[in-house]
Amino acid sequence: MIAPVLPTYARAPLHFVKGEGSWLIEEDGRRFLDLGSGIAVNALGHAAPELVAALTEQANTLWHVSNLYEIPQQEALARKLVDVTFADTVFFTNSGTEACELAVKMARKYWHDKGQPEKIEILTFDGCFHGRSTAAIAASGAPKMVGGFGPVLEGFVHLPWGDHDALNAAINERTGAILIEPVQGEGGIRPLPDQCLQGLRKLCDEKGILLILDEVQCGMGRTGKLFAHEWAGITPDIMMVAKGIGGGFPLGAVLATEDAASGMVTGTHGSTYGGNPLGCAVGKAVVDRIADPAFLEQVRARAGQLRQGLEGLVASHPDIFESVRGQGLMLGLRTKIAPADFVKAGYAAEVITVPAADNIVRLLPPLTLSEDEVAEAITRLDKAAASLAA
Ligand SMILES: *Cc1c(COP(=O)(O)O)cnc(C)c1O
Repeated sequence: MIAPVLPTYARAPLHFVKGEGSWLIEEDGRRFLDLGSGIAVNALGHAAPELVAALTEQANTLWHVSNLYEIPQQEALARKLVDVTFADTVFFTNSGTEACELAVKMARKYWHDKGQPEKIEILTFDGCFHGRSTAAIAASGAPKMVGGFGPVLEGFVHLPWGDHDALNAAINERTGAILIEPVQGEGGIRPLPDQCLQGLRKLCDEKGILLILDEVQCGMGRTGKLFAHEWAGITPDIMMVAKGIGGGFPLGAVLATEDAASGMVTGTHGSTYGGNPLGCAVGKAVVDRIADPAFLEQVRARAGQLRQGLEGLVASHPDIFESVRGQGLMLGLRTKIAPADFVKAGYAAEVITVPAADNIVRLLPPLTLSEDEVAEAITRLDKAAASLAA
């Protein structure tokens, strides 16, 4: 008999009942060090006091009004994002998938309105992940994503990772945009080298193509900059954001330049919940904290410490680990065993990690992880590795 919850997930038998900072507390009282953050969502840790305050204050005032009316909380968050990024304008969604939907629509509408409606093709890359809607799975194109779901939305061209010749050969008069994650998350913590991102920006400028960055997982301070593309010193035309921006409240956004957004006039897109007062009150508190240069400096310091610890871990368990990769607090341990086996051993050692493709165990801790918690993380990961070697 089917479970009351549609069984699309293989779930670990863990019941967390409370969260405190970097810690998750199990029903039985065990305290797990959370190096997953609900997949890069709890960027400020669990039950961060300023987020609880922002949420409860707004909850006591006004939860929801329609986008048929002006929403000051939404305007404040949009203004803040415009101030601290390349963007001129922002649309709020409830998830990364919905941000992907709008990014695709925006790019196509842009070319339609510029009198080049044939430019519907969007180039994407091997191992990418942009969500689970029909457009987002088409963007991935992977058989495990699209298989069985009927006709796949057309217009996505899938390219191998890091193959410059294939990229150049794929560009033609139908190419409207390039869509890429600066650091692949689900694909296995694969950072795009700065020169490659710079090269993509140059290519887009030369050929008149929109550059769409998916920073749903790597954005919001995760890599030690507010957004990962800042490391390369370039800016996109359109950017997808979600996960960390709500700190646990479902919130996403599409950020765009005025030109890229020019086709999205009144009536072309909408969302009932997107940008409601509750979500935006929390989002504003998250962005205020993470966009602070002192906060990002702290993230980089913790990241350096964690990475160093992980390098040591790899050196002391050569049968289990191959290498460390990633950027900031978005790190991957490449394993020589099935990553799911390591994640499971982590549960026994009371530390949460997340598997990804390409034999990667992902570490996406709260950005607020303390120095002592980094040391504790290494101790627990070491214990998990030792249990597998034994
Ligand atoms: C998680 C993720 C998405 C999808 O976000 P949802 O909120 O799950 O819809 C899209 N892109 C990237 C890079 C992601 O990591």
